[in-house]
Amino acid sequence: MSKPYHLGLVGFPIEHSLSPRLHGAALRACGIAGDYKLFSIVDLPEGEKPLSIIIKKIKNGDLDGVNVTIPHKRNITSFLDKLSSTALSVGAVNTIYKKNALLWGENTDVAGFMNDLRRVGVDQRENQMALILGAGGAARAATWGLLSNGWRVCLMARRVEQAQQVVEWIGKSSLAKFPPGNSQIFVLRHEIESLRQLVSTESIQLIVNATPLGMASQPKGAAWPEEIAFPMQAVVYDLVYKPGETELIRLARRAGLTAFNGVGMLVEQAALAFEIWTGMQAPREVMWQAVEHIQEK
Ligand code: NAP
Repeated sequence: MSKPYHLGLVGFPIEHSLSPRLHGAALRACGIAGDYKLFSIVDLPEGEKPLSIIIKKIKNGDLDGVNVTIPHKRNITSFLDKLSSTALSVGAVNTIYKKNALLWGENTDVAGFMNDLRRVGVDQRENQMALILGAGGAARAATWGLLSNGWRVCLMARRVEQAQQVVEWIGKSSLAKFPPGNSQIFVLRHEIESLRQLVSTESIQLIVNATPLGMASQPKGAAWPEEIAFPMQAVVYDLVYKPGETELIRLARRAGLTAFNGVGMLVEQAALAFEIWTGMQAPREVMWQAVEHIQEK
């Protein structure tokens, strides 16, 4: 029997998170004792002290690692000793672990998203065009993953300056093969007219919703306006997974497109974090079963 693992999730609000279910199932399936707790910590500055306490617990071994979610994915970086090249490129962390007495930050959302795109059969030919709606933490991860795999990306945000910041950050990465000004990535305002023009001038292969629009807890609405026809060649991937069929997915399927929710990314980013912490292969089938109530409805 391996040592017990004490894990958790830091963020706010997190009471409805599926991560305890996913990691609890994975620990049990691997015969590992331990737990995965929720650490509800509000944004800085009020959250600074409780966040420092969690960091201390990982340093002294009381915790073996944590996941990080809204609102801390970006500001947690300043609490850590080292960032993986992916976390550095994205400028956000969702997984913390200790190695050789140093605290490391990783971003498994990137590989979680890209692996799930592969799972659902979105092929990755060079220079295909992806449209990403939103410019927050999840959009950063999706943008980096797609650009690194040869896609062109249009980042569309209601605050265009937020999208511009993502492009500038990512362009600074030493791994970036797409300096600012390069046509691999451009930004537009998330509004009907820009969308209409984009759809008429570009052949979009993939539409990614990285806004909370469509979440059960959000006001009703879809990230895509009904008055604009979907590009028929596109696949829709909604990072939202609650409900299983979001308004965007419903509209896209009604128009004849193939559409997926973000549950696969959720499972995969968790599986990758589990592998970092335990060094064991994650039991993905068991993890999928743990969230089967929200699968592709
Ligand atoms: P975030 O950092 O808060 O970013 C959200 C983005 O959406 C921001 O650009 C925000 O713009 C924009 N937005 C919010 N409300 C909007 C609206 N009504 N209309 C247009 N844009 C709007 O959040 P995140 O971490 O990127 O997460 C985004 C979504 O992805 C959430 O639903 C989250 O649950 C989901 N997610 C899923 C996975 C998964 O594994 N499937 C992983 C990560 C995230 P403002 O800054 O102007 O508000």
